[in-house]
Amino acid sequence: MSKYIATRAIRGANALVTEAEVMLNKALKEKGAETPVSFPNTAYYLPTILGMTGIEVTKLSDLPPVLEQARKMLHPLPSGKHWTPYLGETLDSGMSTLLAAEVIEAIRFVYGLQPERMPEDFTLAGGTTYGGANGHGHLNGPIDDIQLRSWGIQLVDGRMPGFAAIVGCAKSNEVAVKIVRELQRRNILTFLSGNVNGRSIIDQLHEEGVELGYDTYTVPFGTDTLSAIYALGFATRSALTFGGMKPGMSREILNYNKDRVFAFVLALGEVDDLKYAAAAGAINYGFPVIADTVIPEILPTGVTTYEHVVSMPFDQIDGKDDLEKAERLVQKCIEVRGVKVKVSNVDVPVPYGSAFEGEVVRKADLRVEFGGKYARCFEYLHMAKLDEVTDGKIEVVGPDFSSVEPQGHMDMGIVIKVAGRQMQADFEPVLERQVHYFVNGASGIQHVGQRDIAWIRVSNPAADKGFNLEHFGKVLHARFHEDFGAIVDKVQVTIYTDPKLHAEWLEKAREAYDFRNKRLADLTDDKVDEFYSCTLCQSFAPDHVCVVSPERLGLCGAYNWLDCKASFSINPTGPNQPIKLGKLIDFQKGYWEGTNDYAKIGSHGAVPEVSMYSIMENPMTACGCFECIVMLIPEANGVMVVSREDTAMTPAGMTFSTLAGIAGGGLQTPGVMGVGKFYLISPKFISADGGFKRIVWMSSVLKESMADEFRAVCEREGDPDLLDKIADERNVNTVEDLLAWLEAHNHPAMVMDPMF
Ligand code: SF4
Ligand code: ZN
Repeated sequence: MSKYIATRAIRGANALVTEAEVMLNKALKEKGAETPVSFPNTAYYLPTILGMTGIEVTKLSDLPPVLEQARKMLHPLPSGKHWTPYLGETLDSGMSTLLAAEVIEAIRFVYGLQPERMPEDFTLAGGTTYGGANGHGHLNGPIDDIQLRSWGIQLVDGRMPGFAAIVGCAKSNEVAVKIVRELQRRNILTFLSGNVNGRSIIDQLHEEGVELGYDTYTVPFGTDTLSAIYALGFATRSALTFGGMKPGMSREILNYNKDRVFAFVLALGEVDDLKYAAAAGAINYGFPVIADTVIPEILPTGVTTYEHVVSMPFDQIDGKDDLEKAERLVQKCIEVRGVKVKVSNVDVPVPYGSAFEGEVVRKADLRVEFGGKYARCFEYLHMAKLDEVTDGKIEVVGPDFSSVEPQGHMDMGIVIKVAGRQMQADFEPVLERQVHYFVNGASGIQHVGQRDIAWIRVSNPAADKGFNLEHFGKVLHARFHEDFGAIVDKVQVTIYTDPKLHAEWLEKAREAYDFRNKRLADLTDDKVDEFYSCTLCQSFAPDHVCVVSPERLGLCGAYNWLDCKASFSINPTGPNQPIKLGKLIDFQKGYWEGTNDYAKIGSHGAVPEVSMYSIMENPMTACGCFECIVMLIPEANGVMVVSREDTAMTPAGMTFSTLAGIAGGGLQTPGVMGVGKFYLISPKFISADGGFKRIVWMSSVLKESMADEFRAVCEREGDPDLLDKIADERNVNTVEDLLAWLEAHNHPAMVMDPMF
């Protein structure tokens, strides 16, 4: 263990704790002990402090005990004379640093100094940010709980292999962009913070026009080192949300991160005392530190999986130019942390990976669009016999877009013909839905919608790099083989822009969509003899099982019965197993021998029985991925439905974030359930408890985004105006107001049987 690192980390920690104490005293004097303290949109208070100490900070006067703990873990600087291991002292200092850093950021929030302001032209990609603004002129600050949950799903299913916390400033803008692109290409989430002599990697990326934000997996926390604390807050909350850890279980939380969260710190540029101290903090979580400068290394001791600190001076990296060196640097990071990455080999002239899925192509960058307001774009995947498909054949029938004026539009149809011995007609829609993700993975291409309302935009940079119509086919051919190789053996793609053939194929596609709609409507729980399990989330919530039936999809919204069936065909020993229903016990509540037996086994004994259709009796458990929470409001004789996009106060006196803590963790809690939003429109939605008519309150974002579907449900339930009788956060935030609203609107729940 390096005495040099120990000295600098201990010195950095001492200085920071002192700084935090001074700031806190000042804040207590100026603002008062009762001043509220919080990070925005999280139910985890100040998350690192909560996880490590169990203290729920809500006001300034809660902070002194935190700093007392931080001070207790400080050590004197190593003396010149003796050799001691120092590792324990260094780790302690690291922990003090994290506590002090979070205290300082929290105080900055009190003064309106977080998240950091940036020039007005700084816009975040798709992120919801502090204050609900669309991110103009602000860095991100801490990650909100909504985003934490949605990334949680991707960490679980492996789409996201881990995260990188980059601190500092790269050798050049070019290197900064390369490093981030290399990480994006591997779908590694990237957190950005810190600076070197006032210049931050965030500035570098901003100058190069790199789109930063949640949607592109690149989160700019702040331009100082302290903001890196948000990365550890994210890590801590992962353990609390998905690992079922309780606040204060610091050792378990740290181990959980070491074992399951594949993260590392990449320190770019000179490392000062504070950076050493913060790095020591990260090592506590098992996150190794890789520096691109000369610093002493720390070899494995077991705290991290491999080396703790690795020095890889940028100019000494083997590589023909800076870009190659940057690539090697990223490879080293992945190696040191043991991150398992999966890179798609797609032969297109633009970068490719899931991190590009969320990219938006703005009007100003637009080369050409297909679909949207002025054109028609459709996609249609169908199966054929093996000898009718030529694998890898890609045809463009009709003109390309070279003659379309800039920002113009044209009609396009993508027809995909697949064949495979394991292929079934039921898998066609499952595969077709992937077109969205596959096409979106190309940098500079944006895909929205599906079927005959698809809408694709190609950006100028992508077109300049040579992206053309044929590349859509290349992407689809490669990805279908890669992800669905077990069911498709051959993939052929035809792109139609010729008006006559476009019209003909659109007609055929529409017939197929109609056929599938009817098939789906016919596919009810009583017509099948097996449901499917989904245990994908068990790596985070070890006892949780989703039971997926034709009329009840998984609570994350990402897996319906057909998806699970396809997934089982692709991977027979994977997370989706058929559950033979066996003997029916109670059809009204949804009990079968098979589902009960499976619940027992799948939950390792934690859940002896599960009802498919009731929220009151043995409801299904939840991990952390639910799209909405359904919760009993006893006074109203009904339930409320809260969308995970809703941050407002609900009549239960809790926001979504707080409710999520109650609903998740794999526990069975009568009266509370996490569900996928399409379950709300199923005839089997809490049908044992009265169904859709029980909904007395619903987040407006749901009401509006699914208005058509809900209107149809209201018709089905025999109460066409029901949707307007359901309150939302715009008019009702308390139980009293809710009761008054229900009375005034004559809501059916008022006269229904008591729920319990
Ligand atoms: Fe997780 Fe359930 Fe979605 Fe499967 S269906 S990924 S277990 S939330
Ligand atoms: Zn989950």
